[in-house]
Amino acid sequence: MELEKEDALSEWYHKVLKEAKIVDSRYPIKGTLVYRKWGVFVIRSIQRELEKMLETAGHEPTFFPVMIPENILGKETKHIAGFEDEVFWITHAGKNKLDVKLALRPTSETPMYEMFSLWIRSYNDLPFKIHQSCAVYRYETKHTRPLIRGREFLWNEGHSAHTDYGDAEKNISEIKEIYKKLINELLCLPFIIDKRPEWDKFPGAEYTLAFDTIMPDGKVLQIATAHHLGENFSKVFDIKYEDETGKQKFVHQTSYGPSFGRLLAAAILIHGDEKGLVLPPKIAPVQVVIVPIVFKGKTDEIYDYANKIKEKLDALGIRNIIDSRELHAGEKYYHWEMKGVPVRFEAGPRDLKAGKVFVARRDTGEKFALDYDEINNKIFELFKNIEDNLRDTAQEKFEKKFFKAENFNEIDEFTGKGIIESGWCGEKSCADEIEKHSDMIAVEEGKDAACPVCGGFGYRIRVAKTY
Ligand SMILES: [Zn+2]
Repeated sequence: MELEKEDALSEWYHKVLKEAKIVDSRYPIKGTLVYRKWGVFVIRSIQRELEKMLETAGHEPTFFPVMIPENILGKETKHIAGFEDEVFWITHAGKNKLDVKLALRPTSETPMYEMFSLWIRSYNDLPFKIHQSCAVYRYETKHTRPLIRGREFLWNEGHSAHTDYGDAEKNISEIKEIYKKLINELLCLPFIIDKRPEWDKFPGAEYTLAFDTIMPDGKVLQIATAHHLGENFSKVFDIKYEDETGKQKFVHQTSYGPSFGRLLAAAILIHGDEKGLVLPPKIAPVQVVIVPIVFKGKTDEIYDYANKIKEKLDALGIRNIIDSRELHAGEKYYHWEMKGVPVRFEAGPRDLKAGKVFVARRDTGEKFALDYDEINNKIFELFKNIEDNLRDTAQEKFEKKFFKAENFNEIDEFTGKGIIESGWCGEKSCADEIEKHSDMIAVEEGKDAACPVCGGFGYRIRVAKTY
């Protein structure tokens, strides 16, 4: 199947989600998903690694109620204006109409900062950082897509308070490093950090950074964001601290979050191939599948051998299974390849006799014999080689999806193929013209390209077709 083409890609994606039991989108509420074994496992791995890194960096774990009273959600006016069309409201409890409507959280700045004002007293309490992994709710009116755009989605959100603007900015630098480890090291995905234009920043933020990747169809997917909130929320929620001299000051804040579903979708679509999923070993629910190759009269011997191999892998903490179903070996290969299991071990009479296992790599298709005694020494090296190959291959494809354009002919030519670098004078009316052709995803200082509308110089921009 040709995966660079949008229709084929979409068909492939839905097929993989279903056959690999990642999610089921047939739950009878539009834009919601039922997560199944393969999806839950990968999301849990992402969540576990992220939470570990955040807590090492000083974040406290927390769980907030999913409901937010209307008066709290509406306190920061720009914030609520940005979300009002997307909020789900609870208006009744039993037969009674509620005095104060309750929102299902679209994000947690407002309820969390209501509590920050009770918790933060002195400079000794700062920096203060919390995080939670949870579901959020947004009434999306755009076309929904499983894991990519839904009305309920899973994420982790981090929130912080600092003594000043600079310390808040330092926290954003730390978050960049943590997300880089998550996206690039764990999931082997390439990304670029884009500073969103003013009109596309998070409602209530000073500025928004987005972690964007490029899907095989050339469209950009935002997988995480980080916002510098300045004093915008602390002034509204009255979050003050006493400094060393006894003076009361407002805290400076940041908030940030990756979408677990979008990270999973990017890993599925960027690493996948015509046979199905290709998973990096660290997030694969099964890292090695052992397929016994049985012949008449040799069954017990072969299963004993497969069990010995399994024990070895178990002792190393490697997630593995023996596929003992009564199926042809070819059907088993097809099944586990589709599910993205990184390594297949085949154990047949010849392998047993030679003291070897036959290894097949899912990512490259490479096959080779490995000494049974060498499994312990070689398996982690093999996993690392697979990760490196997935990361390098994805990075190479990513870098080929960048283009430069100086006029609308060029912008139109490259739109939908990746990220286009161009220029912008700084006038909003020119930006509106540009956005008729393609979404402006980043605005940076720099005068090396002219505005395609008026020819003026001011900023360096990136434009792309986005999900
Ligand atoms: Zn212009």
